[in-house]
Amino acid sequence: MSESLHQIGEPRPYAGGVSVRVVRAGWFRPDAGGFFGVVPRALWSRLVETDERGRIRCRLNLLLIEAGGKRILVETGTGVRMTDKDRDIKGVEGGDPAAALRAVGEAPDSIDFVVVSHLHYDHAGGMVDAAGRPLFPNARYVVQRDEAEAAHGDELRVQGVMEVEQLDAVRAAGQLAEVHGEAELVEGVRVVRTGGHTRGSQAVLIGTDGTGEKAIFWGDLIPTRWQIPIRWTSAYDDYPVEAIEVRNELVRRAAAERWWCYFTHDPGDLPIRIEATDKGGFRASD
Ligand SMILES: [Zn+2]
Repeated sequence: MSESLHQIGEPRPYAGGVSVRVVRAGWFRPDAGGFFGVVPRALWSRLVETDERGRIRCRLNLLLIEAGGKRILVETGTGVRMTDKDRDIKGVEGGDPAAALRAVGEAPDSIDFVVVSHLHYDHAGGMVDAAGRPLFPNARYVVQRDEAEAAHGDELRVQGVMEVEQLDAVRAAGQLAEVHGEAELVEGVRVVRTGGHTRGSQAVLIGTDGTGEKAIFWGDLIPTRWQIPIRWTSAYDDYPVEAIEVRNELVRRAAAERWWCYFTHDPGDLPIRIEATDKGGFRASD
């Protein structure tokens, strides 16, 4: 596995003429205890090592999807507006989606849709540039209405956690496309509200019905392949009971229908698939 900051994967075809590439936009280091939540260290520590500050080195993975003559970026990384102190605590390296795209020969102004899975800093921070203007001038930003409302809501749990300034800048520029539930952006690319991690978290379903392969981008509902066991919820999940229910439903479908899986924070090669185990659980396969 290469360690370079910015990388782009080979295009991978899905049903309906959809093409997907993984764009690596840098790294960050979430606290391992928070990341694995209820899971005992004795279990997760078999899968991944921590650094001297108890953190795990994870990727900031974006997707670049081409379908129906449109270009769709999924996720925006941390962006460039974090303080140095915050970048240090969270171990951010890179994180600027525009720099990541340019480094692999792609232009931010070529993007037609930006899908933001939810409004946490490592997914929505890069919606805007250093000056606070929308970073993708020709894009519509796709956010679930529930998520936008939660960001402006009065729940104490999410105060100061959601990227409200970024959301408001995009809305003020007339570039916000609020969706509710399931929405097709172009043929073969749909967003679907999952909730669980945050009130309006969304996943991306890739590929048309019929012949050909399909894929899913999980957002933080399942941030890495380590968290495929459906009860392995994170301490960052605002609605863990809902997260387990929707993970159960979608992981079952992903395994049964052999969907390819893209994980937003996985440092390994993507995509991979999920298979059922003979004990009734699920695990990563090829
Ligand atoms: Zn995240």
